Amino acid sequence: MISKLVYTTVCLLLLSTCSGPAVMYTGERPLAGFNITIDPGHGDTQAYDDFRVGPTGEREEWINLRVAKELSKKLSWAGANVLMTRTDDKDISLGGRATLAIKHQSHLLVSIHHNGSTNDPEMDIPIVYFYGSASQNPASVDFATILLAGMRDKLNFEQPDGGAIFSDHLIYDSGTSILRNTVDHLPGVIGEAGFFTQIAGEGRLKSKSYNSLEAEVYYQAILTYFERGIPFATPFPSDTLPYLDLTQTLEFQLDDGFGGAFFEEHSVSVFQDGKPLVFSWDPVSGILKATPVLSDGHRVSFQVFGRNFKGNALHSRPFSFLTKTGKAWYSYDEWESAFKQAEKLSTQIANIDTNATDQDLEILDNAINLYQLSLELQIVHREARRAEESILSLLELKQTAFKIDLAEQIEAQRLRITEYYPD
Ligand SMILES: [Zn+2]
Repeated sequence: MISKLVYTTVCLLLLSTCSGPAVMYTGERPLAGFNITIDPGHGDTQAYDDFRVGPTGEREEWINLRVAKELSKKLSWAGANVLMTRTDDKDISLGGRATLAIKHQSHLLVSIHHNGSTNDPEMDIPIVYFYGSASQNPASVDFATILLAGMRDKLNFEQPDGGAIFSDHLIYDSGTSILRNTVDHLPGVIGEAGFFTQIAGEGRLKSKSYNSLEAEVYYQAILTYFERGIPFATPFPSDTLPYLDLTQTLEFQLDDGFGGAFFEEHSVSVFQDGKPLVFSWDPVSGILKATPVLSDGHRVSFQVFGRNFKGNALHSRPFSFLTKTGKAWYSYDEWESAFKQAEKLSTQIANIDTNATDQDLEILDNAINLYQLSLELQIVHREARRAEESILSLLELKQTAFKIDLAEQIEAQRLRITEYYPD
């Protein structure tokens, strides 16, 4: 087994001889090729918000914007393709900010805020938030760790030993809107470099030179994070497929962010709908092979985890696929087209018996699904009762022709019809 140290050495050797994407890190524009979204929190809240203001009248959204603008300049000079969600004192909806970050195909989202406390005027520490749980969102935690260390090291706080990285689920049960709505695409954090409600803290945050220093802390953290490479996984087949055949092996090509596949030992894994999958991993080719678990669901989602040799985690964005059932399900948008297709399929299998084939079974299941879909699309459509009765007779047919015990389902459907359609 090759140790991590050997991986590193081999990779460095490779880097010195090849002209792959790693070369970008040594040039004058170390962030060339990376898309970064900077989100200055809030905007234009003065008329109605008396919380986001310090003891002498400095407002959070003003500080956020000044720091963000400085940071934007630095990142642009370093070659990054920067998107600012706002550039003046205007509010943008949280959903709108998330959409911008996704459309920008950002590699990282940095939402810049500053903190306030209504019950502790002395509180002044840095906090960096990430979405959800640390094990599910390791890339965001990686960046948060680098950023918090920089804040503690370079900025001044009244409680210099304070500060922490927190899940945004500590603020709201379902997390913060901007991080929740972007986490399926990119890692991101909300940075809170100090408290504007603390008198000395507000004094510092008012100062442009201190704002520049803070921007420099963000900038250095971003440089460090990207220098460590942004590992990623590419699924085969791609998640733009019409549907995924769950009986086939699924593959992921892993890249350590430098065009290679140098990952920490035992760091690679793959999950289907939150449960670990059995997989094989080839550290030479970087190909991970997994056999999906069969699912009755309309969609399945896979997450790949791994940490490259420089310590950066792969962002565990979900790769979501329609299943075969799901494809049949979602391709109808009107109850009537679903119902008519169900009728057509029912006719095809009306006369099957114990010699029925697997294909017949598939048609039968699709017919049941489509009758159900017609009822989902419009609960009481004109043929609702007929759809319910057809589901019942198809279940009975399935039981007889395929010798599957469906007694419970059949009884439930029969009861449903007598109870819900009494006449
Ligand atoms: Zn804020």
